Amino acid sequence: MGEDLARVLYTEEEILDRLGQVALEIWDDYRDKDFLLVGVLKGAVLVMADLIRALPGTAPMDWMAVSSYGSGTKSSGVVRILKDLDTDITGKHVVIVEDIVDSGLTLSWIKANLASRNAASVEIFTLLRKPDAAKVAVDVKYVGFDIPNEFVVGYGLDYAERYRNLRCVGTLAEHVYR
Ligand code: 5GP
Repeated sequence: MGEDLARVLYTEEEILDRLGQVALEIWDDYRDKDFLLVGVLKGAVLVMADLIRALPGTAPMDWMAVSSYGSGTKSSGVVRILKDLDTDITGKHVVIVEDIVDSGLTLSWIKANLASRNAASVEIFTLLRKPDAAKVAVDVKYVGFDIPNEFVVGYGLDYAERYRNLRCVGTLAEHVYR
């Protein structure tokens, strides 16, 4: 798999280090609250697995799956729920766990949707954030790494469902696209 990468942006060690720091921040902010981590399938599976185990105490998790309609690689912000939460989040403090924010349209829809269910609060953690995300009014409370505007794979992120199981995050070599 490694030979399909042009460049490694973050190694497994760097990712785990950063997740450890963010886990402590989240724990500090939420330890006394009724909180829930909500992962967005499928990209956030690996982020969630390592983040939740880096918390100093226990926390519940739940999952959503959505499909966003868009032309080509750009999302439009029109979202359909494919799998909803099992949890009633009324009165709960929700932290959405995401792999990457690009335009932020999908995430701002999910955030508004969860807030409309009378959650006590809804905040976002994303492992990776692209520059365009800053242009949208989606407030991301916790960011792992700000990355350049390049297509990345690994650590849950796919290219046509491949490379999710790479331990690092990197850009794809040109021969993969051809
Ligand atoms: P947004 O609504 O923020 O534009 O879309 C975010 C979604 O687009 C992510 O959840 C992810 O599925 C996909 N995406 C955006 N940038 C990348 C990228 O660099 N690599 C991969 N594999 N997916 C991306």
